[in-house]
Amino acid sequence: MEKEAMKLRYDDYLDSRLDELWKIAQYVHSNPELGFKEVKAYRIQCDFLRKNGFVVEENLGGLSTAYKAVYQYEPGELTIAVVSEYDALPQIGHACGHNLICATALGTAVQIKKYMEEQKVPGTLVVMGTPAEEFGGGKIKLLEKNAWDGIDAILFMHPTSDTTRLAGECMSSKRIKIKFKGKSAHAASHPSKGVNALNAANLYFVATGLLRQHTKSDFRLSGIIESGGESTGLIPDIASIEGSLSCFKLSDLDDYTERVRKCAEGAAIATGCEVNIEFIPGYLGRVPNKTLSEVCRNELISIEEPVMDGMPYDYGGEDLGNVSRVIPICNPYVTIFPDYKISNHTEQFRDLANSSSGKRCIQVSSKAMARTAMELFMNPDIVDEAKKELNKRMQDE
Ligand SMILES: [Zn+2]
Ligand SMILES: [Zn+2]
Repeated sequence: MEKEAMKLRYDDYLDSRLDELWKIAQYVHSNPELGFKEVKAYRIQCDFLRKNGFVVEENLGGLSTAYKAVYQYEPGELTIAVVSEYDALPQIGHACGHNLICATALGTAVQIKKYMEEQKVPGTLVVMGTPAEEFGGGKIKLLEKNAWDGIDAILFMHPTSDTTRLAGECMSSKRIKIKFKGKSAHAASHPSKGVNALNAANLYFVATGLLRQHTKSDFRLSGIIESGGESTGLIPDIASIEGSLSCFKLSDLDDYTERVRKCAEGAAIATGCEVNIEFIPGYLGRVPNKTLSEVCRNELISIEEPVMDGMPYDYGGEDLGNVSRVIPICNPYVTIFPDYKISNHTEQFRDLANSSSGKRCIQVSSKAMARTAMELFMNPDIVDEAKKELNKRMQDE
């Protein structure tokens, strides 16, 4: 059979499964669950994959809502993984569209499996069920447990707005916790006896505000005063700040960490406070893989999905970033709102994730990623090339 005709045959197969996948996406959407507590979404996926001939390892890496599903027609050179996410956000629900991510992972998986089975393709197909993307970094925990070992290439779709694209770099981040400790005193009668921790917090924000003139344009620093005194009659003895710091390059992130630390230390010195400063590592930025992304771009074009040129940067972060530094990824962002850019984590995005354009997103994404996997199984050299690209890129990190 000619190659494109063969791919079309499996696109038709996906179409025949689409209503079932859409039901799963809607079920997950109407049962939003927070990270590491995605019990219903986890169960429906494990059951679906088992029913469809995958061997499912539950509680992967000791995480109660992580799984690894494997299908093999016969052993072969490559192991390709499709990645699923299914956690929701507090209050607002599935405003990041992870219900579409998990349904797409299932759709991609059954489409590739059908191809491997009928065409007798050697190799291994894996679905990685990864919890807690929004908070908790499930993929990083799985990396620490070596659960990604043996995987040669990763396919992962995230819904987006505006035109469909292949993701470029995203940001590396750190969380910041600062606590200034001063000394309480009566604000009117004995202010000279007090050491004002809120003053230190104010100076920190002034200092980091001035720092912005001397950083690159991708420097992102946010912060809130979590506590800054109990009563106006008392000099605040404690002020705590929570913040986050992000930028594209890890070397810049280290540099900015030290400069932000000095702002906090300087504020403490100027006010006579003590200070405790903590930087907690966040997600590492995504390392895009051009080799794999170009294969996927061609497939998106073949199924007539408009795709943005290049691989645009974005200012978000995701826990796939850490994994993308070890295993080459193909990360299409497929649109659920083509008109213009809107923000995810909003009510509008949540509602779109449960609309007909969400269903279309599953259809387009599953086909594009399944076709990409077919190309990789047919030409394992592409994966070698992708690994070389990743090694080279990590050398200049
Ligand atoms: Zn999100
Ligand atoms: Zn997301």
